Amino acid sequence: MKTHNMLIIGLLMFSALLPAQTSDNLVLITLDGLRWEELFGGAVDSLILDERFCTDTSDMLSRFSHPDPQVARTKLMPWIWNTVAEHGELYGNRRHDNKVNLTNFFWFSYPGYNEILTGFSDPNITSNDKVWNPNETVLEWLNKKKQFAGKVAAFASWDVFPYIINEPRSGIPVNAGFENADSTFGILGDRELFLNEIQSSVPSPWSAVRLDFFTHHYALEYMKREHPKVVYISYGETDDFAHDGRYDHHLKSARQTDEWIGQLWDYLQSDSFYQGKTTMLITTDHGRGHSPAPEWKSHGKTYEGSNAIWIAAIGPGIAARGEIKEPMQLWQNQIAKTAAALLGHDYINGTEEVGTVIPSIVKTID
Ligand SMILES: [Zn+2]
Repeated sequence: MKTHNMLIIGLLMFSALLPAQTSDNLVLITLDGLRWEELFGGAVDSLILDERFCTDTSDMLSRFSHPDPQVARTKLMPWIWNTVAEHGELYGNRRHDNKVNLTNFFWFSYPGYNEILTGFSDPNITSNDKVWNPNETVLEWLNKKKQFAGKVAAFASWDVFPYIINEPRSGIPVNAGFENADSTFGILGDRELFLNEIQSSVPSPWSAVRLDFFTHHYALEYMKREHPKVVYISYGETDDFAHDGRYDHHLKSARQTDEWIGQLWDYLQSDSFYQGKTTMLITTDHGRGHSPAPEWKSHGKTYEGSNAIWIAAIGPGIAARGEIKEPMQLWQNQIAKTAAALLGHDYINGTEEVGTVIPSIVKTID
């Protein structure tokens, strides 16, 4: 009898740890190297006024500047501050001691995306080189489940993503860099064919990163046509304009990406396949330097602050708590397990220990 009771207690304890599925579908989004400073505080006036970083100062001030950071941030990212702050959650405002950090020690892109997508930091990923990721991502793990098989896809502006997601091994279609959409994405619609037609005639400022316009519209058209259940979209411009020292373009890009994510959210609410059953998780691969101010252009181990990031979440089951203002420490390695948990799955990765779910985002069965 005693053994029987202990078994029941054991089962109850075990079941209390299981994630409760709150979503059928997930859209994971990253904005490369967008700082928490701009997300929570809006544009930094001293950087707008620095003629090394902005050309049309008066236009930029009228578009993005405001003495009240709560107004300034809404001018920069109106969808985030009108919709996510109203119906979802935002983590990482260090002014409230609410922190999200990297656990990896590199503070640049491939190690960050590996950490987001696998749930752990790999000390052997030490560069942004095109190396096939030896680690399985949560996207690949989900794609092996019957429920999600063939219903996972990724769209990215940076041409390293086919390697980070290990496209050949994972079997996940990845449209990245300057690739056109091809038959791995099914029978293309007119808008995708048009994107294919014009992509090579619209020069990108960079050799390895395309303009986010293409990434966004390839993703949106594919979602409308095929209704994938798990989609990863990686926007890249915010990082590259910052490296170029163009704060004006960086701000315009953040503003535009916010609008696109809002457009995507509105689409999800208008399509019966996704409506009320789809969660968005939004984050970044790394922060940027903050001190002294011109360090905003760069990131990496020697740039103080570039291990500080943020996380936003919106969807069914996500409490409408808005900007979280309690002291808290979250980590980038918690995103993968949290993403799977929203879909009702307990993500594990071989012998590697992955970060725990973010308890305030994930509900458990008890
Ligand atoms: Zn970078």
